[in-house]
Amino acid sequence: MKIVGLFPSDSSGKSENQLLNDRYALGIESFLEDKDHEFVVINSDEEVDQHLEDMDVIISSPFLPAYMDENRIRKASQLKLAITAGVGSDHIDLNTASQNDLTVVEVTGCNTISVAEHTVMDVLILLRNFMEGHRQSYDGEWNLSKVGNHAHDLQHKKIGIFGYGQIGELVAERLQPFDVKVQHYRRSSQENTPYSKYVDFDELVSTSDVIVILSPLTSETDNLFNYDVLSRMKEGSYLVNTARGKIVNKDDLIELVNNNHIQGYAGDVWYPQPAPQDHPWRTMPRNAMTIHYSGMTLEAQKRIENGVKGFLTNFFNEEPYDEKDVIVSGGTITNSSYKSK
Ligand code: NAD
Repeated sequence: MKIVGLFPSDSSGKSENQLLNDRYALGIESFLEDKDHEFVVINSDEEVDQHLEDMDVIISSPFLPAYMDENRIRKASQLKLAITAGVGSDHIDLNTASQNDLTVVEVTGCNTISVAEHTVMDVLILLRNFMEGHRQSYDGEWNLSKVGNHAHDLQHKKIGIFGYGQIGELVAERLQPFDVKVQHYRRSSQENTPYSKYVDFDELVSTSDVIVILSPLTSETDNLFNYDVLSRMKEGSYLVNTARGKIVNKDDLIELVNNNHIQGYAGDVWYPQPAPQDHPWRTMPRNAMTIHYSGMTLEAQKRIENGVKGFLTNFFNEEPYDEKDVIVSGGTITNSSYKSK
């Protein structure tokens, strides 16, 4: 079997504790030592094309995805398994995967805590105007009005979570001690939860002081937060997106941040990834963006390593995968979030 893994390059050569890089590559090389398989490590999406014809398994993470579009999947006639080393398999054309009997699995739950913590941090960073306070500290300024003008308490704010699954619920739970009102909209259920009240989409958009996007990227959510939706958000509200960059329209967001309708934007997800150097969100006013790393804490990387090795073991032994991890199998999209309604 030929297994291709796309891992970020460790150009410094000093990141010895990193499991998700091209030097350690989740320890797969030593894991495969006594098995008769070829393991090829690449560190850019462009290199995928060189291996399409004879690869059996492809492994990549949402942080640096191998974009397996229709064209690539059709060319990869031997490909049987696509492993997402993380959560979120939108970088794979799931319809084409199902038509070509390609199984897609991801490590469900591996970084839900990691992303939830980062998301709560983003909410606080925006509301407290941390970016301006930090900039002044770094630049040698002391302009209190300029930072205080846009600094708010989190207490009593309405936080709206769009796509309330595993991460959304953890965010809502973690926000409770701040004495906030949490509301959510999700596709799968209209139930209230112990930490959050269900509201319809329009109410979520128009009444939240902060909207947090935590749904998968699908044909329904792609570009959903476009001018129409963003302009219906409360004047001066904030947007946090730790789900996927493409859910928010790049240019419409910039326009609404520039005219102060949206007070600030934070998150770690972009499209495409890696984000081009001149991606306008990097320099947009009042942004608290980071590169995509919320879900790759050292603890999460260990869980990802264990999950990926588990999938390879199942694959070699022809054993079934845990149902919760399966996105596409047997010619069907099985994961409820990715199925069309
Ligand atoms: P999950 O499957 O537990 O929850 C997804 C939720 O979104 C569900 O409640 C579902 O009903 C809802 N949903 C799906 N389609 C919807 C739609 N069209 N409209 C409204 N709600 C919809 O997933 P999760 O583990 O909570 O992860 C959510 C997403 O976060 C992932 O799909 C992934 O894209 C992203 N993620 C990002 C990182 C990161 O590092 N930033 C890490 C993990 C996951």
